[in-house]
Amino acid sequence: MVGIRAIPETHRFCVECQFNYHVDATFFCPTCDKIVCGACAYRRHKKHRCEDLTSKEMETSCRVECQATRHSFNDYNKVHRGIQENLTHLVEKIEEFLLEKIDNVRMMEKFDEGMRENVACSDYRQFFKRTSKEYLQHARNFENKMHTFFKKLEGEQLQRGPVDDETPNDEEEEVANTQDD
Ligand SMILES: [Zn+2]
Ligand SMILES: [Zn+2]
Repeated sequence: MVGIRAIPETHRFCVECQFNYHVDATFFCPTCDKIVCGACAYRRHKKHRCEDLTSKEMETSCRVECQATRHSFNDYNKVHRGIQENLTHLVEKIEEFLLEKIDNVRMMEKFDEGMRENVACSDYRQFFKRTSKEYLQHARNFENKMHTFFKKLEGEQLQRGPVDDETPNDEEEEVANTQDD
């Protein structure tokens, strides 16, 4: 017997006649909750309002895909918000620490001690400048990519118009265009 896994993705198994058919030639019977081929739909489910399986499956699968994509964006937002909050908090703490240092400067008695503090503060500044620059560059890059991506989505929507029938190879062209800048 042919297991479900052996069926190619483009085909569906008719539970009535036990054969595989192309998804375009199969139907879903909501009364019996079965996937059946055209012939079996006609012979045995004539009075049940069988639905075109391709459009039904595509609708479901598109909805699932879109939902999953939406969740990815949502997950990103949560993580990003957390990072943002931590960063703000950390930078505030570091600022507090440095303010305290400034207050302590006048209490410094020895020249060596002052020099050490000088060097340390200069090092802190260099470190922060370098690291934050790196981070902001990545963030800026990401922002640009998201911006381009959004423009691409907007463009696709405009091209698509009200009725969606054929939108095959637009994606590749769009990607090629966006890589120019
Ligand atoms: Zn059949
Ligand atoms: Zn039926």
